[in-house]
Amino acid sequence: MEAMGSEVAARPLGILLDARYCIRCGYLLQGLPLTGACPECGTAVELSLREPTLATADPEYLKKVRAGLSLVLNGILLMIVVMVLGTFLGAAGASAGLAGMHLLVPLLSLGTSILMLVGYWRYTEPDPSQVALEASGSARAMVRVAVVVQAALGVVSLLIAVMVGSTGAWVLGGASPGVAAWGVLSLVVSLAGFAAWAVQFFSVMRYTRWLATRVPDAWVIRRTGRYMWLLPLLYTVGILLVGLGPLIALVLYWNLLHRMRKHLLSIEQGAGPVELKGRLAEATARD
Ligand SMILES: [Zn+2]
Repeated sequence: MEAMGSEVAARPLGILLDARYCIRCGYLLQGLPLTGACPECGTAVELSLREPTLATADPEYLKKVRAGLSLVLNGILLMIVVMVLGTFLGAAGASAGLAGMHLLVPLLSLGTSILMLVGYWRYTEPDPSQVALEASGSARAMVRVAVVVQAALGVVSLLIAVMVGSTGAWVLGGASPGVAAWGVLSLVVSLAGFAAWAVQFFSVMRYTRWLATRVPDAWVIRRTGRYMWLLPLLYTVGILLVGLGPLIALVLYWNLLHRMRKHLLSIEQGAGPVELKGRLAEATARD
């Protein structure tokens, strides 16, 4: 008990005192020996410390990442508009004769998809100072692979729609074997698109967690972990919540990425991450 007063002075050397996070899994490494490894994933503490924070990153790089995030964030807002519009037009279109309006929602969603795919591509820009040491390079690369696959599938499904439309297959009611083949192909494309979308979601969460360790922001790190099960649940089973699950998932996702954009802007302006102190204190108290 008498040693209490000298506790700070008696702190052993070689212990990490700063609030730094594991670059692979986001674990708070504070209090661990510098020569140790992350208890969660085994990554060397030293490797995480070698990771430069975003404050020391190339301003051009930060600007590109932030521009990508802006496209994604605006794309999500558009997606919400399309969702609401689709529901409204679906209800109204059944009664009133809205000629030409049936094309509005598919065209808007196509535009939104392109916007978001470009956004994700730019959000996952490689850090030029960093490529050799990039621990979660797989997550960053996976987002880009998923983006390219989705763009390709989008083109294929558009071609299918044009082909089926031009042969008048829809009008004939799908009786001929050729139409069945298009139907199967269309189903395969839809399933592949869903798989690519899922890969993209989980990769974006892992990549965002890595980026958050470089802010660092414990709140974002924790949220990415929680959202990996919560958002898919809201997006699927959440439809039972008066259909509001997907909307809630989009809002939570938007908030998370919006917070990253705020950090990037603040860091670019030389002010450091936003609201860092309170969030770190909260995280340290909880962990
Ligand atoms: Zn770890």
